[in-house]
Amino acid sequence: MDILIKEFMAKIESRNAHEPEFLQAVQEVAESIIPFIEANPKYKKHKILERIAEPERVISFRVPWMNDAGEIEINRGYRVQMNSAIGPYKGGLRFHPSVNQSILKFLAFEQVFKNSLTGLPMGGGKGGSDFDPKGKSDNEVMKFCQSFMTELYRHIHADIDIPAGDIGVGAREIGFLFGQYKRIQGEFTGVLTGKAAEYGGSLIRPEATGYGVVYFAEEMLKTRGESISGKTVVVSGSGNVAQYAVEKCIQVGAKVVTMSDSSGFIHDPAGIDTAKLAYIMELKNVRRGRIEEYAKKYGCDYFEGEKPWKIKCDIALPNATQNELDAPDALLLVQNGCFCIAEGANMPCTLEAVRIFDAARVLYAPGKASNAGGVAVSGLEMSQNSLRISWTRDEVDSRLRQIMHQIHEACVRNGRVDGDFVDYTRGANISGFIKVAEAMIAQGIV
Ligand code: NDP
Repeated sequence: MDILIKEFMAKIESRNAHEPEFLQAVQEVAESIIPFIEANPKYKKHKILERIAEPERVISFRVPWMNDAGEIEINRGYRVQMNSAIGPYKGGLRFHPSVNQSILKFLAFEQVFKNSLTGLPMGGGKGGSDFDPKGKSDNEVMKFCQSFMTELYRHIHADIDIPAGDIGVGAREIGFLFGQYKRIQGEFTGVLTGKAAEYGGSLIRPEATGYGVVYFAEEMLKTRGESISGKTVVVSGSGNVAQYAVEKCIQVGAKVVTMSDSSGFIHDPAGIDTAKLAYIMELKNVRRGRIEEYAKKYGCDYFEGEKPWKIKCDIALPNATQNELDAPDALLLVQNGCFCIAEGANMPCTLEAVRIFDAARVLYAPGKASNAGGVAVSGLEMSQNSLRISWTRDEVDSRLRQIMHQIHEACVRNGRVDGDFVDYTRGANISGFIKVAEAMIAQGIV
């Protein structure tokens, strides 16, 4: 089997040299899907995995805009339309200086499996730009978003490709992007999700990814007769996903002791409570400040340039960015007694870190399963836009819970190995793959 995986990866590597994140994401999927394909030869005959690993379309474009000093700035925009076998392309936009084709292809590839897992009719895509919203005025962010959409609009539509937010793209950016799309196309449609509630957004969408991660962790803990209540939780990130993961942890009685940003992390042994979280939300979403300020305000430790994985915990929720948790971090977590890791970010754990979790037989959920709540509620936002209705908070939240429960069941169904141990990566990959593969076979060689 190892030889088959190596041969497959050699072909992918020759076509995608210099795209390490994309290769990492494909490798992780190949390791669980190739044995499955060998046992189910029809997928081999139709070359499904080879086709899934090739984007249907990659669009790259110039984004010129003028800053507040009257100087012209040039960024690069992208949209990767990965797979539309089971529905229109769906996936977020990321604005961050690190954005490149490799990162967006890895995110779009993961999105195909994730969207399939939700059970909703959504294909996979991802996009963004190397634009850095940090330190920019609202006016500059608006100018950039308008220029970005002036090209992107021709590639998207409510029935073709429906972007949403991701790192650096929150409610402010979605608003500017939506306004420009509406102005150019002259139509008010659900072409973006993550909109504010006043103009077609779904209640619970801002909360969905973070809440969903905690719902998924609860499902995993249940399989071991445990619950999240009373547990100590280490969280990385302090953006959208992290904030609402912490909110849900507080609601279910867990103690969250860390949060971070790209400069460092805070350790608050007393736990982040509702009032402290409100401070973080104001700090990050309104003032756009640094997490270090939390340590000054609440008199706790701040670790400049470090990640929170050395702090003793029961549960770890990596919620910041890809490859933020490597093998030494994984070892430290396991040695300190951490037994449940649920990814809120996409691919935050390296392949080597995941191998350490699997060898230690701890509960580990890949982002494509545990963070699927965000895109699931985006799917519900699309449904509400099409029906021109709005569901209540409780209705959306209960659908989100149900979807996370179903994703967990699918992972257990296809991921059970060695008696009781569940390999959630394998379960998520196989469950996501089957639906897309069957649709691709039915639709012929396209
Ligand atoms: P935000 O932009 O709201 O927050 C990102 C957080 O991660 C910030 O705290 C940021 O710190 C930190 N961060 C970003 N880049 C780095 C880096 N290179 N090193 C260390 N920390 C970093 O993004 P989201 O919360 O929306 O997204 C976080 C993760 O969750 C991403 O992997 C995203 O793909 C994934 N995700 C998001 C979904 C959503 O609905 N938003 C859905 C599913 C997955 P700083 O403030 O310093 O930049």
